[in-house]
Amino acid sequence: MKANPISSTIPLDQDGVHHGYLKLPYSRDDSAWGSVMIPLTVIQSGEGPTALLTGANHGDEYEGPIALHELASITGAEDVTGRLIIVPAFNYPAFRAGTRTSPIDKGNMNRAFPGRPDGTVTEKIADYFQRTLLPLADVAVDFHSGGKTLDFVPFAAAHILDDKATQEACFAAMKAFNAPYSVELLEIDSAGMYDTAVEEMSKVLVTTELGGGGSSTARSNAIAKKGLRNVLIHFGILQGEMQINETVNLTMPDDDCFLFSEGDGLYEAMTDLGQPVEKGDLIARIWPLDRTGQPPVEYYARRAGLVISRHFPGLIKSGDCVAVVGVIGA
Ligand SMILES: [Zn+2]
Repeated sequence: MKANPISSTIPLDQDGVHHGYLKLPYSRDDSAWGSVMIPLTVIQSGEGPTALLTGANHGDEYEGPIALHELASITGAEDVTGRLIIVPAFNYPAFRAGTRTSPIDKGNMNRAFPGRPDGTVTEKIADYFQRTLLPLADVAVDFHSGGKTLDFVPFAAAHILDDKATQEACFAAMKAFNAPYSVELLEIDSAGMYDTAVEEMSKVLVTTELGGGGSSTARSNAIAKKGLRNVLIHFGILQGEMQINETVNLTMPDDDCFLFSEGDGLYEAMTDLGQPVEKGDLIARIWPLDRTGQPPVEYYARRAGLVISRHFPGLIKSGDCVAVVGVIGA
């Protein structure tokens, strides 16, 4: 396997607080010998586990970058037992463009794993995580939200895995994160996901969906910061008391949780996020865009549960996710 062209401008394995970059050479029209400079902080002290902390895996999701910028700026080496590797903007080109995928190669970081050292910019970043950063980590926290096209009730999630020992460690870390909702996910199509790369190395992964719409709120940011701190205390990397509040346990057992639009139209939510629904309840109506006097297409819950996700923009296209119903109870 070829060497990855990314280099770190700071040491990954020395005590202290180091702020720098992952430097990825990227020759292009406006910079012949240019590089993509991905902000990186490493904070290390003593013997302990390593946490690899990432935001903006998708570039238009903001709670992670905010919580991680704050953590990088307020944490001293004396606060840490072990090591924090903090990358607030995993897909940095996408983050700078405010888009889900990279403007350079249209790469979706969460479909790019295990990556390629001689691939596109997104594939090179994925390969560097796969072969350099992830092997250093005991636990990975990867923040997501809905981005510009989805909105979520704020939840932390862990995956149902064949490897039950890893699954239990992931569930325990999800409980430590203690978002208002906790979701056990059965991933239908896990190929290419960062999550899968972490789990296949038998390392702990906590992921989230903390809001959406392409921005963040005071509430969603507070959930991100508290959850991050709790997980780091859970692993003994930070000291202090975990702050634990009530959480609602949810599962998404099968395809009946998901509703997809079969046409273009004007999106009318008939339920709001967090609302309980019975099977058969009206979730949303899609009105035609181009004429009056036509009835809307109606979408009904195929399961009882809670509305945990919905389409965010006012207009919807065929194939877009209308809403997701989560089932209460773990
Ligand atoms: Zn995401």
